[in-house]
Amino acid sequence: MTARPRVAVIGGGIAGLAAALDLAERADVTVFEAKDRLGGPMQTVDFAGTRIDTGPDSFLARRPEMIDLATRLGLGHTLVAPAVGEAAVWSRGALRKMPAGMVLGVPRSMKSLAASGIVSRAGVARAALDKVLPRSKVGADIGVGDLVRRRLGHEVQERLVDPLLGGIHAGRSELLSAAVAAPQLLGAARGARSLMESLPTLPPSSDPVFLTVPSGLGDVVGAALAALDAAGTTIATNTPIGELRFAAGGCDVVSVSGDAIAFDGVVLATPSPVTARLLTRLAPDAASALSTVTYASVVLTLFAYKSDALREPFRLSGFLVPRPEKKLLSAISWSSAKWAHHRGEGTELVRASTGRIDDRRHEDIDDADLVARLHDEIVAAIGLRAPAPIEARVNRWPNALPQFKVDHLTKVAGRSHAAAAQAAFPLALAGSAYEGLGLPACVASGRAAAARVLDALKA
Ligand SMILES: Cc1cc2nc3c(=O)[nH]c(=O)nc-3n(C[C@H](O)[C@H](O)[C@H](O)COP(=O)(O)OP(=O)(O)OC[C@H]3O[C@@H](n4cnc5c(N)ncnc54)[C@H](O)[C@@H]3O)c2cc1C
Repeated sequence: MTARPRVAVIGGGIAGLAAALDLAERADVTVFEAKDRLGGPMQTVDFAGTRIDTGPDSFLARRPEMIDLATRLGLGHTLVAPAVGEAAVWSRGALRKMPAGMVLGVPRSMKSLAASGIVSRAGVARAALDKVLPRSKVGADIGVGDLVRRRLGHEVQERLVDPLLGGIHAGRSELLSAAVAAPQLLGAARGARSLMESLPTLPPSSDPVFLTVPSGLGDVVGAALAALDAAGTTIATNTPIGELRFAAGGCDVVSVSGDAIAFDGVVLATPSPVTARLLTRLAPDAASALSTVTYASVVLTLFAYKSDALREPFRLSGFLVPRPEKKLLSAISWSSAKWAHHRGEGTELVRASTGRIDDRRHEDIDDADLVARLHDEIVAAIGLRAPAPIEARVNRWPNALPQFKVDHLTKVAGRSHAAAAQAAFPLALAGSAYEGLGLPACVASGRAAAARVLDALKA
């Protein structure tokens, strides 16, 4: 092929944008996005006199992909780590600090677990059996919660691992693939008999675990859009794609309104139900694997309080709420403690998370009532003296977080990538539904899809 190939990227979230940035170096690219804005849940809004994220507010710094992307987009020098690392769990009637040095909710020592008070004495005694129970048989994959429950008992699973890992995924930790969500624990389980004693050593505490762009992660999306514009990429927002049609030498991308444009290759970076629908005839095996992925809906509500409503300054990055507490809240991020750039004069900024795969109560609660009920729970948790927040904003993210069941990497990700590679034109899949939903994994997935399509176009 001598002229620059034409490649469509369908879905303008971070995975699609990462794919488009690489593709644009060697192809004429069009990004099709159903909504009126790019970035999916990466969105920064004006709130209480500042700018704050309504979706992701940070990313894992121990993977390079988001740091590399921010650097490539001219934002690398702005990256900052949280000002506070310590967090708590709202467990057994009180906020209790999490044991230091945990790996994905698994404590490093019995002493730190007992001192935290997060589990009962019986729970501590059960966790101690980890050191004497026979080694657990672990295959290629296992539910994270299942693994932890076997070794350390149900209290550690329900009150530490599930709120932490289940919270990130808004899922149930028993069903969550350890290979996707907790490879460190899977590796440890294959080590010595005791899970606790096999935990990987932590990197030096000077290395940040998380980073963010202080002006908001929406700025990564804005910078990606500017870079794509400069590279001559066409950005078609408000353009949901309804069909992909094989055409001689390539593929017709057909919008829901019926417009068809011919492309030589396609990156599909849409959520699995959409991807499955678009691939029904072109790659039926991928469509059938992807149609098994379910999604959790979550709500992220922003609150602003006057600082003098606090009895004493809140110095933790936030707290998690275990399922057995039966609250609407699943987690609180106390942004004004967590981030130096959110320390406002006399104002506290708080991000409250609600909703899990098996907790859809928020869907039946209107915004005003949700704010009131979450506020009451925040008051109960930290003893706030405020009849109401000074400002609140509800951000609903329906069907936003894919659930990775055991064996997801082989049965869904591997199978659908393989089926896409067999399509009659260069096609690759990207996004949070494959190798992980964290932003670095999404960027990696987008870049890998771009490389696969470019390779296929060369062949
Ligand atoms: C509230 C919340 C908090 C989070 N916090 C964090 C965090 O702190 N750190 C972290 O690393 N991750 C976090 N995540 C996860 C992370 O944000 C997501 O996994 C990631 O943004 C998903 O990117 P994506 O490109 O795969 O999908 P998306 O961003 O969902 O992009 C898919 C795009 O496809 C578009 N689309 C759908 N159908 C069509 C169609 N027919 N035609 C064209 N376009 C279509 C959609 O509109 C969407 O823009 C959070 C997620 C949420 C919801």
